[in-house]
Amino acid sequence: MKAGIIRCMQTEDYCPGTTDFYAIREKKGAFAGVEGEIQLIGFISCGGCPGKKVLLRVRELVKRGADTIVFASCIQKGTPMGYACPFAEKMKELVRRELGEDFPILDYSH
Ligand code: SF4
Repeated sequence: MKAGIIRCMQTEDYCPGTTDFYAIREKKGAFAGVEGEIQLIGFISCGGCPGKKVLLRVRELVKRGADTIVFASCIQKGTPMGYACPFAEKMKELVRRELGEDFPILDYSH
């Protein structure tokens, strides 16, 4: 897997992504059961509320080789402070439309 991770910009001050990197390294959470090496292509924020920059960032991740887009848990689960992104569904809809139905998109990371 070549993962491109989108994270919440509002959460960056709370979290440097340690658990995401752990989940990739140990194949836990959304990465459990992945066969072979997991390569991290990029780890970038959505670009800030209300998430309209997400497409530009996803395009760049895919251009650089990502074959799976991962929404970090801070977005849809709201970790670590229990505050999910109010724009998560819209962002996902945009990304799904951009990449097509068959492109792997993970809703959380851990
Ligand atoms: S749009 Fe959502 S994911 Fe992006 S910074 Fe705002 S709350 Fe976070």
